[in-house]
Amino acid sequence: MTDALYSLSISQLGPLLARREVSPLEVTDQLLERIEGLDGQLHTYLTVDADGARAQAREAEGRLAKGEATPLTGIPLALKDVLVTRGLRTTCGSRILENFVPPYDATVCARLRQAGAVFLGKVNMDEFAMGSSTENSAFGPTHNPWNRDCIPGGSSGGSAAAVAADLCSASLGSDTGGSIRQPASHCGVVGLKPTYGRVSRYGLVAYASSLDQIGPLTKEVRDAALLLNCIAGHDRRDSTSLDAAVPDYLESLGREIKGLKIGVPREYFGGGLDPDVDAAVRQALKTLEGLGAELVEVSLPHTEYAVAVYYLVAVAEASSNLARYDGVKYGFRGEGRSLLEMYGATRTQGFGAEVRRRIMLGTYALSAGYYDAYYRKGSQVRSLIRGDFDAAYKKCEVVATPISPTPAFRLGEKMADPLTMYLSDIFTISANLGGIPGISVPCGFSSGGLPIGLQLMGPPLGEAALFQAAYAFEQATDWHKRKPQL
Ligand code: GLN
Repeated sequence: MTDALYSLSISQLGPLLARREVSPLEVTDQLLERIEGLDGQLHTYLTVDADGARAQAREAEGRLAKGEATPLTGIPLALKDVLVTRGLRTTCGSRILENFVPPYDATVCARLRQAGAVFLGKVNMDEFAMGSSTENSAFGPTHNPWNRDCIPGGSSGGSAAAVAADLCSASLGSDTGGSIRQPASHCGVVGLKPTYGRVSRYGLVAYASSLDQIGPLTKEVRDAALLLNCIAGHDRRDSTSLDAAVPDYLESLGREIKGLKIGVPREYFGGGLDPDVDAAVRQALKTLEGLGAELVEVSLPHTEYAVAVYYLVAVAEASSNLARYDGVKYGFRGEGRSLLEMYGATRTQGFGAEVRRRIMLGTYALSAGYYDAYYRKGSQVRSLIRGDFDAAYKKCEVVATPISPTPAFRLGEKMADPLTMYLSDIFTISANLGGIPGISVPCGFSSGGLPIGLQLMGPPLGEAALFQAAYAFEQATDWHKRKPQL
């Protein structure tokens, strides 16, 4: 009974903890041991906080004994290293923050702490969340648990791989253009990007502020609902967080999907789609239809502009957000005889190549005389993309698409060619541009044995319908039950 506690989902562990058949410390110790034994091969963690985790586990134990537990009490989690944690190093995958120990918790971390969760540590990511493969981490890449020669996806690659490899019960990531959903798809786990504003971003290191959202990566759909129940809601410290009531997302699980209208956008099934991905996603659509959903063809005509718009808006906002890393207030400081030289040395040595590329692109796009041609124009096309979704949601409740045009590619394969790397985000970035929620659920494997994800997107604050459809799909299939051989 008590072996392999490390492999259990939150929903499986919860009742065992509640009935006190296993203790939070037992689960935590098993996971710490497994990380110790296996993470050398995968490199999902940047910082393991064994002492902190054990202390939290003991506290959770006390709460369980007193009957003051929540569904997350005693659950060991991994946090993407973009979320600040009080007293625990937060690097954002960058040299510039290599030794940064935040004096406060991100709101999501504070809420999870309050709920009694246990933090095992901080997991790997592309530097400042810029990337699709975790290869842009200053501390070396994470490997895909299904094939160590492949990328785990990114930027939340550590979060996804740690869940898939049973090195945590669940994790949090952030998604600016697909960074939760794409690694979830490549690692065969569930990943949810909530509606823009659904979750407070206070304490999330900012990348592109009009796009960033925090969300869960989990072993099953129900766990994502449990985590969203805890982290969603208004926060006066984040002016973009929505002041909208948070429903109990568990209530949408188990509702049948008979009659649910699922839109299939023709623009997402064209050329360039890997045949294994195409086949798996089409089979998933058939499964949903078999459950009584009604498939309707929809069109999202501005999809072809999404990558271009994203890589304008995101880099422009990044160039502004990253201006704060000047070597003065915190983080790494380079040497220089003058202030300007010091700034230059700090930013040249502190940032990696991709981050520097984006800061330069963004600075150019925002500079006097170019703002109208680039950022403003990009924002206008963004409104058209949002309009596409508004029109589609008049015809359907949920939109179903692939997550990524291919299964996980090989480490190093796209590093020399940023444009090809950017194009791999084609199916995920529209949800960020539109501010809408999207979830990835495992829907099959490639002939090479790599996981494939199905994306379900909903209208703003439509998370409940996503959970309903994703859960129904999950119950009808068993892709999520497969585990990589490690
Ligand atoms: N791959 C995209 C990028 O490189 C998305 C990253 C993200 O969602 N943080 O920007």
